[in-house]
Amino acid sequence: MQTKTGIPASPGIAIARAIILDSEEYAIPHRCIDPDVVPAEIDRTKRAFDEAIRELAELESQQSGLGKIEIRDLFAVHRHFLQDKSLRNKVIDLISTESLTAECAMGRVFDDVHQHFLKTQNRYISERAADITDIRKKLLKHLIDFKQASLESLDHEAIVVAKDLRPTQTALFDPRFVKGITCDAGGKTSHASIIARALGIPAVTALQDLTGTVRRGTQIIVDGNAGIVIIDPDAETVAEFRAAAESIATLHQSLEAIRHEPAITRDHAPITLLANIEFPEETDHVLQFGADGVGLFRTEFLYLQSGVEPSEQVHYEAYAKIIQAMQGRPVTIRTMDLGADKFTQSHRFTPETNPFLGLRSIRFSLKHRDMFVAQLRAILRASVLGPVKIMFPMITTFKELTLAHEVLNSARSDLTTEGISFAADIPVGIMIETPSAALMSHRLAGHADFFSIGTNDLTQYTLAVDRGNAQVAGLFSAAEPAVLKLIKATINGAQTAGIEVSLCGEMASEPKYTMLLLGLGLRTLSLTPKMIPDIKQIIRSVTLAECEQLAGAALEADSAEQVLESLIKKARTILPEFFK
Ligand code: PEP
Ligand code: MG
Repeated sequence: MQTKTGIPASPGIAIARAIILDSEEYAIPHRCIDPDVVPAEIDRTKRAFDEAIRELAELESQQSGLGKIEIRDLFAVHRHFLQDKSLRNKVIDLISTESLTAECAMGRVFDDVHQHFLKTQNRYISERAADITDIRKKLLKHLIDFKQASLESLDHEAIVVAKDLRPTQTALFDPRFVKGITCDAGGKTSHASIIARALGIPAVTALQDLTGTVRRGTQIIVDGNAGIVIIDPDAETVAEFRAAAESIATLHQSLEAIRHEPAITRDHAPITLLANIEFPEETDHVLQFGADGVGLFRTEFLYLQSGVEPSEQVHYEAYAKIIQAMQGRPVTIRTMDLGADKFTQSHRFTPETNPFLGLRSIRFSLKHRDMFVAQLRAILRASVLGPVKIMFPMITTFKELTLAHEVLNSARSDLTTEGISFAADIPVGIMIETPSAALMSHRLAGHADFFSIGTNDLTQYTLAVDRGNAQVAGLFSAAEPAVLKLIKATINGAQTAGIEVSLCGEMASEPKYTMLLLGLGLRTLSLTPKMIPDIKQIIRSVTLAECEQLAGAALEADSAEQVLESLIKKARTILPEFFK
């Protein structure tokens, strides 16, 4: 039995056997073969193509059944590519003429295609280069019978042990079978962790070299609350963690009763609890957990899920689906927050030394105006279906806000000219995610209808700690007094100007921070839908006076450790069952 400590990325306890997910490139030896094995290599090649085509067709119908049309279309594009006989023939020719192994011949052919796609001036074709890598991996998987890497066909409970996970990869996990996630890399607020929380899968990240330590089939305990992973536990430890998992389940069951009760403090202050979502399919969850609306729709997943850039109509349909499902509750649509760890098809090959300080978020949108306009038109069109708010991400300077407003106004006047209707009074707000914006919030407030504080990025930019880097994950804490002071400055800026302010970073989903956030002055939080009942229970158990006292002390503290100690100490006296 061995215990490893990482970062608690998604709460809950899971016990199951490990499945290792290799996200590395497969190493293909450059090897020649005897001429008499050439026919066998050609057979292997044909089989791999056929199996990959069959697998893609199955994935297409699965995704179609789930109503995930963009993902289905991506798989269809890959299948058509593999069905093209000239590609298969090129591989076969290389095997016969140069006596190469099937893996080696395939690698060569795919490298050529990849290079060709990358170099082309045509943006649509260059966008396909990433797909070539994906298709190649799928073929190689069949060729080398790398079945253990496949999760799409998982039909039993397992803990995924991965080096790193892409957000889109995590989004495809089926929570019926993927019971827990461990990652060598990543941080608490990396986007793969956010998806794990949305799916309700316990996860621990930043485990350094767990993939090197664990073998497929080893029993593992993932404790996503404490951030620990136990490898090959003894019977006593398994029993202890099973009991802890049961007590968490009992606690959640007891919260069923308050799901549709108001979130109101003991001294009668009403708090609005909104939901953060990444996919239109999540609205069932949002309603089920009793959210008052959607406070953050991360629209960039529309770009990341699909092999093609979403059209205005694809945007529109996603927004319409959410707005209609929310039945009159407000829906805040954040314009695309692409770049950094959320690349889009056409731009992932532009290397940046510091992508989080690079062309991301609103900067990306302002540079790719055609994409931005398509999205804004779709939001405006959908605004006639129900209450919508538009939110610009990562506004850092006044100038960016002015430029974003200009693009929005021009989209409005185009629609008016075209005779297309949209709501006249859509609130337009901004995310406060950089120290610059927080310090200028009193001025920005004059040009925004609301603020939403993005503490994931605000923490990363204030502390100079990459939110997805496992090596510095221990330094990432929203409880650092510097971050708290910027949150406070933003709340003050909003209150002085009389505009709404909420907080939608992961901090809002963490029970230990609820009292602090209320005490700092927040009355609206936007969080992972699943955590709404827990946070509501805390709100219903405290008074604003207690919260304000705690927040006052936190603002005067020297360190995150001091802040956390006092938060947890106080929370334990009020709700011991939450803070064991
Ligand atoms: C944030 O930065 O806190 C936020 C909510 O945005 P995202 O996590 O999508 O960057
Ligand atoms: Mg952010």
